Amino acid sequence: MSEIKNITARTILDSRGDWTVEATIKLENNISATSSVPHGKSIGKNEVNTVDAHIAPHLIEREIKPVLLGKDPTQQKEIDDALLKLDETPKKEKIGGNCMLAVSLACARVSAIHNKIPLWSHLRKLMELKGKPTAFPRLLVNVINGGLHAGNNLAFQEYLIITKADAINKAVHDAATAYVALKKILENSYGPNAKNIGDEGGFAPNFENNLKPFELIKQSLIEAKLQGMFDFGLDAAATDAKLSKEELKTLYQALKKDYNISYLEDPFAEDDMDGFASIMADMSASTIICADDLTTTNTQRMKLVQEKKAANGIIIKPNQIGTLSQTLDAIKLAKEYSWNVIISHRSGETNDDFIADLAYAAEAWGIKLGSPARGERVAKYNRLLEIEQFEI
Ligand code: PGA
Ligand code: ZN
Repeated sequence: MSEIKNITARTILDSRGDWTVEATIKLENNISATSSVPHGKSIGKNEVNTVDAHIAPHLIEREIKPVLLGKDPTQQKEIDDALLKLDETPKKEKIGGNCMLAVSLACARVSAIHNKIPLWSHLRKLMELKGKPTAFPRLLVNVINGGLHAGNNLAFQEYLIITKADAINKAVHDAATAYVALKKILENSYGPNAKNIGDEGGFAPNFENNLKPFELIKQSLIEAKLQGMFDFGLDAAATDAKLSKEELKTLYQALKKDYNISYLEDPFAEDDMDGFASIMADMSASTIICADDLTTTNTQRMKLVQEKKAANGIIIKPNQIGTLSQTLDAIKLAKEYSWNVIISHRSGETNDDFIADLAYAAEAWGIKLGSPARGERVAKYNRLLEIEQFEI
């Protein structure tokens, strides 16, 4: 294996016009690869620290580069252990999860290129999984944006339609058709402004109440002749939802009754483990109760959640924890717990499509990429299509 010859980094823009960081790894044989990191807006308090994007390139070149030069990038664990040794604070306060992750992901990507295999195939090797995945992840498509991701009156952050098609080509087509059908219904109902979109590409008009979006989504699926092709889901992102626990419970009961919701993410605030446990007791037979801010891709947090039986699904976001190896550890533990694994983008994204390969490689139950609109979301959908069309 060719060794790491150089590491460079720079600031780039994310999809909200904020600054983030990307890192490039170059090997002795001059093969190179680049990765960048996204930014959340509804950030869990247990997520690792993000250092200022303008300081990040200096930290990568001054602190990380000297430690990794000469190392074999295919030895991901060794690379990530070296990164973790540079900053042993639990929340990566000195080096920042963003600096570590950009480098960590670029190592995996350059290794795949060097070995002339697709990134997903390399990731499967790192996870000690054999052969090809048997299925693609289901698409959790955020078609209506609210909460911190939009300037409208919705308390909840993400109204999700969840594809049922096995082939990814069919799933993406269904999602795109549903998206366009919904746009038409929203414009008819609320006027031309209703097609304006939020941070993850979903529509973002004001609604009569927090459940109304599902009524219109359902109607649009009927008009697009797509009934039965989707399940319904919600990311309440309840830490920021500004609703009482009682109000939340009432809304979830209505969602179950009227829309047979099958996926509910962050139904209560990020430290309300008991709230999660009680809704698990009520709804988990037919609903994925998914932890995001509750777990923050952190295996220590996951152990607590499992002890309390507080979730049966988990959002995996590499930048919540800061290295690829820790991300893969979280996926492995979730599978040991038989939780549904959902790999996720962030609301402030770059065009990096790494998570598409990660979700496919891990045989994740689902992937969250926003709407099939906006370049930074579309990049990941298109990567899934590319894998299906050319690499398997
Ligand atoms: P964020 O939101 O990327 O703004 O944190 C995504 C989510 O809560 O799933
Ligand atoms: Zn979430």
